[in-house]
Amino acid sequence: MKKFTIIFIMLSLCSLCFGQDQYTVEVVKLTDKLYKITADGGYPVNFVAFIGEDGLLLVDAGFKSTARKLKAALKKLGNDMPTYIISTHEHIDHVGGNFIFGKDPIIIGHKNLRKRMRCDNYILEEYPEYALPEITFTDSMSVYFNGEEIRIISIIGGHTDNDIMVHFTKSGYAYLGDDAYGMHIPSWDILSGNCSKYASAVKKAIDLLPNDTKFISGHGRDLSMAEMREWQKMLEETTEVIRIEMGKGKDVESMQNEKILSKWEKCTEGGYVSTNTWIQWVFNGIKGEESTLKSTTADYYRAYHNGGIEAIKTTYYELKKDKTWDDNLNPSELYTFAGFLLSKDKIAETIKLFQFAISEYPDIYYFYDGLGEAFWTKGDKENAIKFYKKSLEILPENTNATMMLEIITNE
Ligand SMILES: [Zn+2]
Repeated sequence: MKKFTIIFIMLSLCSLCFGQDQYTVEVVKLTDKLYKITADGGYPVNFVAFIGEDGLLLVDAGFKSTARKLKAALKKLGNDMPTYIISTHEHIDHVGGNFIFGKDPIIIGHKNLRKRMRCDNYILEEYPEYALPEITFTDSMSVYFNGEEIRIISIIGGHTDNDIMVHFTKSGYAYLGDDAYGMHIPSWDILSGNCSKYASAVKKAIDLLPNDTKFISGHGRDLSMAEMREWQKMLEETTEVIRIEMGKGKDVESMQNEKILSKWEKCTEGGYVSTNTWIQWVFNGIKGEESTLKSTTADYYRAYHNGGIEAIKTTYYELKKDKTWDDNLNPSELYTFAGFLLSKDKIAETIKLFQFAISEYPDIYYFYDGLGEAFWTKGDKENAIKFYKKSLEILPENTNATMMLEIITNE
């Protein structure tokens, strides 16, 4: 899910604030061989381990930050070296842990996954070659392992362009990655998915599976086939309602004001995606607007490696001049890249980049948060306080700045 919104920005700040100790990995036994794993690296993600006479097969590997705890949890189950890892899609909460097992496991994924793990914001993950899939497919394939046929089938197009489902044919379980989200309105990838096509992607999976299949959701609770059908119906009906209102010429705001999705309000409980956000997303998806969005992070990354911060500035101005970008040059990507530099302890360069961002976007609060964070990391309390205060002037309800000011002044 997930990189162009304030939610993501707050998430990345949280990851700077907390150590890895508070991240958790929990295991639930589903059958003699099948285990559901829940890794919490800031928010929880579910995935699957399959252990038997042939060894360990892992479907997804959680976050980078939970990888060590995942390995320790697998060791307790008797095997911490997968023969296969099946990666369901590009997102860091699903493939971030691939690296921890080194070169031995054979990683399987959709053909589009390989390039996705090395483009856009994902370039910052700097995945080693061995963490990428070495066996890829476009339609379907099977792995015969631990006495069972494991069917792997492409269900691309909704959440991302590389989603797959994994069906354990004997155990009776299917794992659909983020094409199963409990009963919640799901999130999707603005660069590689299209949420108006979510319903058809999920339907493809359901139609291929037996009636007694049980589902493990990437996020949220497990589902029966009846619940999965109900959830798919929610996706289909909400998309259709939005399509009909669009046909009447309505814009996003009037659909939100008229609460056209009020019937599905229960699907937003627990802090998941709101009906208003879903209206906006599906609207854009139907219009095909998301297809013009691009990410500049990979451009900044390459520029930085060629000529440091000055080269990023040059690249930024070149992209800004490029008419095809229009409003799509997203300032938060400068923030993302500065956060990447800070994570590498390049404090002086982080400060330079935030200062540049502020000169371009003096009214965006999060750049001041970032600059405050960089000065705080440097040990410059005075400047840290100054810039967190500036952030609060712009956005008084900014809880991150309030929290950080409290921490710094109590030091
Ligand atoms: Zn995802």
